[in-house]
Amino acid sequence: MEMTRGLLIKLKKSNRLFEMCDCGHYGGVSPNSVHGDRFEHGHGACSDCDCKQFTWIYFCDETGDELK
Ligand SMILES: [Zn+2]
Ligand SMILES: [Zn+2]
Repeated sequence: MEMTRGLLIKLKKSNRLFEMCDCGHYGGVSPNSVHGDRFEHGHGACSDCDCKQFTWIYFCDETGDELK
């Protein structure tokens, strides 16, 4: 648990924290987010599929691997 928190802080600082949407595409704070800025940055509709709103499922790295 403590390690995970340290990792997240490190990733946030290095700007390499990615957020995965329910639809399988990046959103939220991800530098490569494909979700619009409707509610908050990266929380709108997905431009790669029919997803209407970003639904956070997990933090991940740039390859889409979940951070545990
Ligand atoms: Zn989505
Ligand atoms: Zn999508």
